[in-house]
Amino acid sequence: MNKIKKILNYIDSHKLYPDIKIINGSVKANVFIDEKKVLMFSSNNYIGIATHPRVVNAAVNATKKYGVGSGGSRMLSGNLRIHRDFEFAIAKFKGYEDAIVWPSGYSANVGIISALINPLKVGVSDFFERKGVIFSDELNHASIIDGCQMSKQKIVIYRHNNVGDLEKKLKKYKKRRELVVTDSVFSMDGDIAPLDKIAKLCKKYDAMLMIDEAHATGVLGDKGHGAVEYFNLDPSKDVDVIMGTCSKALGVTGGFVVGSKSLIRYLRVASRSYIFSTAMTPASSAALIEALKVIEDEPEIREKMWKNVKYLRESFNKIGFDTITSETQIIPVLIGKEEKAIEFARKLLAKGIFAPCVRWPAVRKNKARIRFTVMSEHTKEQIDYLLQCCCDIGKDLNIIK
Ligand code: PMP
Repeated sequence: MNKIKKILNYIDSHKLYPDIKIINGSVKANVFIDEKKVLMFSSNNYIGIATHPRVVNAAVNATKKYGVGSGGSRMLSGNLRIHRDFEFAIAKFKGYEDAIVWPSGYSANVGIISALINPLKVGVSDFFERKGVIFSDELNHASIIDGCQMSKQKIVIYRHNNVGDLEKKLKKYKKRRELVVTDSVFSMDGDIAPLDKIAKLCKKYDAMLMIDEAHATGVLGDKGHGAVEYFNLDPSKDVDVIMGTCSKALGVTGGFVVGSKSLIRYLRVASRSYIFSTAMTPASSAALIEALKVIEDEPEIREKMWKNVKYLRESFNKIGFDTITSETQIIPVLIGKEEKAIEFARKLLAKGIFAPCVRWPAVRKNKARIRFTVMSEHTKEQIDYLLQCCCDIGKDLNIIK
């Protein structure tokens, strides 16, 4: 307990404890914090699916039909038809044979990585195998990092999006069981992994490739199918394991893997977070099935988001802000010192804009930033207001001239 008090004292004395706001109402462009109406610029509800009437109706109808809970894990009593229907729907959407779904993206990652790199032991010789090696991008999401650690295998971190560094490290561990894992769109920097090059390297060194499509699914690629579509890769040959979350552009909750029938069969018996956790709600699966249909039927919402992305990022850069390497709807504005970033976010909120800062330990020390995200729903007037506020605060805090 003394240790806990010491840590809390440190956090409080450095003013680092997060001021987590309570949002009233739904996650739209305008939300209420307490009684104050503010503009939301940090939601992952990128294309408005979380509040889309068709998706909401699907969830309501499923709740009436099935009830609010699944009643058990998928392995036992929670294997409802609606969950299997969503698995087939997401597999079709992504162009794969089959899919498996976890209650959250976090639980998916921690359950997949162990199962892949520390496979079930079925013969005596399996007990004497050398440890597998995981090659993980240094900016991968925390759920990937935790998944790597839980696997108890060797973890090799390669420099962010650096294919040369990855190759150098792959060479060193040839002849071991190898897994390369990367976000396809990075959650804090908003850039895209060079998957075409990484896929080639994995073939050359006979390593498995797993990608996390959390921030790509529903937005990246001509039809929003994700990074495989964006890079024009061959779904059955170039990437072995496509993981994604249902909680960003798909607007709900959950995590999935799409892939071959045998991969999916294997994960159902090898992923502990799948086996030992209650299935997601029936409403979630029903909403997700409808979300995929909306994404196919209404490409204009995705187009509107990309138009907003281009406008906001170009305008930030013109004003003189550093948007790091952002290429997508995640547009970080680098502030640097933690205290300054906290102040920036506080001033934004005072002007009616909700965009909290992201700081250590979520990103490196002195790389604190405001992680802005753009939604299709934002109007040009709302974006212009954000830009004006950022410009005033940036000058005030000596971040821009
Ligand atoms: N992977 C990435 C890249 C993410 O950004 C997130 C969520 N922030 C997750 C996995 C975890 O997904 P979920 O929030 O659905 O648990």
